[in-house]
Amino acid sequence: MPKRQSSAASNEAAAVAAPVKEKRRAREVGAETPIENVPRRTRARRPAKPREVDFVVIGGGSGGVAAARRAAALGVRTVLVERDAIGGTCVHRGCVPKKMLSYGAGWASILATGLANTGGKEDWRDAIVRVNAEVARLTATFSQRLHESGVEILHGDAELSAPGEIRIGNETLRARKILLSTGAHPRALAVPGGELVSTSDDIFTWQSLPGSLVVIGGGYIAVEQASILSRYGVKVDLLVREDRLLQRFDADISRALAEALANKGVRVHLNTEVTLVSQANGAYEVCYTQQGRKQSVRAQAVLAAIGRDPNVEGLGLEAVGVALGEERGIVVDKQFRTSVRGVYAVGDCTEGLQLTPVAVSQARWLADRLFGKRGDMVDFDVVPTAVFSEPAIGAVGLTEAEAIEAAGKPERIRTEIRRFVSLENRFAGVSRQSVFKLVLNARSGRVLGAHLMDNAAPEIIQVFALAMRLGVKASHLKTTLPLHPTVAEELFG
Ligand code: NDP
Repeated sequence: MPKRQSSAASNEAAAVAAPVKEKRRAREVGAETPIENVPRRTRARRPAKPREVDFVVIGGGSGGVAAARRAAALGVRTVLVERDAIGGTCVHRGCVPKKMLSYGAGWASILATGLANTGGKEDWRDAIVRVNAEVARLTATFSQRLHESGVEILHGDAELSAPGEIRIGNETLRARKILLSTGAHPRALAVPGGELVSTSDDIFTWQSLPGSLVVIGGGYIAVEQASILSRYGVKVDLLVREDRLLQRFDADISRALAEALANKGVRVHLNTEVTLVSQANGAYEVCYTQQGRKQSVRAQAVLAAIGRDPNVEGLGLEAVGVALGEERGIVVDKQFRTSVRGVYAVGDCTEGLQLTPVAVSQARWLADRLFGKRGDMVDFDVVPTAVFSEPAIGAVGLTEAEAIEAAGKPERIRTEIRRFVSLENRFAGVSRQSVFKLVLNARSGRVLGAHLMDNAAPEIIQVFALAMRLGVKASHLKTTLPLHPTVAEELFG
């Protein structure tokens, strides 16, 4: 008969046997984790001593994450509790996946209709046919609207033959008021061989594209065409005279765009001075100096986009005494009056900004003032502008450098800059960053300039111009509800 154990011994044995029993039970219920691997705390019968924190957020969706991040940034000990994945409806089942799918669907339908004839590939010939169709439609619409308005159209070259008198071929008209709105033309490249180069006017007549192209210039047209044509498969060398492209734009934006163009295969050459263009064996050679060194680049075509000169020749302006400025633009006062009574001028033929909406606004205001009601003049101090490159640029107001110069001291100006990859680019698998920069009065927070680089930038900047006219401040942006998910929301909140 076995000896009876002492009670102490039996307690000890029970203590050893207990885990064995628990292990068996765990196996019976199919638990995968042996009980001794479970952290001690979960085995504790008594609740653990409460841990002190400052802030608990329950729910890790958009609101919870925002609150937790803001609190933590303020030094608050914050705990966020979420039973599912962090991000909530917006990230997992809402805005983000929906918007990305909508990009995909949008591209698909654009490709299916817009590039139906070319098997989904960009094709210059097909594109030009489509462009010409739209241009023809607009031309017809313009003419039709003029007819419907009761405007008589004469075709021919007009010349001011005497004060108040205009000659068109054999016909002479007399008028009390004359408006010059003759526009501008591409500036000629004044170097030997400059006559060989194409201009932006020619591009739209090209039936096929050159395999390679040298673009001379660093302004709107050079940058836009370098960007567009490179995406049609042309190898582009861009020769820029200054140390950065788009001199009139904010430096951060122009640097970001140069980088984006370079990543797309455009070779950007800065600080260049073109000296000679020559042609041999069906190819062109452009010679230039770069920081004192002579260089050259060869291509199948050369495009110069170095500014546009006002169309003032052959109009008889000098004969009747219409004054021209240093740049040979027509000089006008604030009411678009030239130096000759009864003769007015608007748009690109004047010394002002060469932008379509500027010309349209000036012309409408003037017609109203001369013949009808007195309308409000557009505020030409706030001019939104865009460069339709890829990515596009939208800008309004002062650049950082202009703001500092105007303020007199750098510390009077503050900037906010955001760099981010848009959802559209994420969907497309493109890691390119968009850049949004605000230039602010450091004390009042008033927005002095907005400079955006993203394909949505031109659309955003139009409305932002309105906000700036109304004196928008950083505090207004922070208290305006951002629209999600958009690119514009990066300006708010
Ligand atoms: P821009 O005035 O925008 O730019 C001209 C560029 O050419 C500048 O980079 C200038 O350099 C450079 N340049 C001038 N002379 C030479 C030279 N001899 N050799 C090399 N580079 C030279 O003119 P664009 O022709 O691009 O456009 C004309 C106008 O049309 C613009 O002013 C704009 O208002 C309008 N436009 C607007 C568009 C839009 O709104 N998206 C699109 C297209 C045109 P530097 O800075 O050194 O003078």
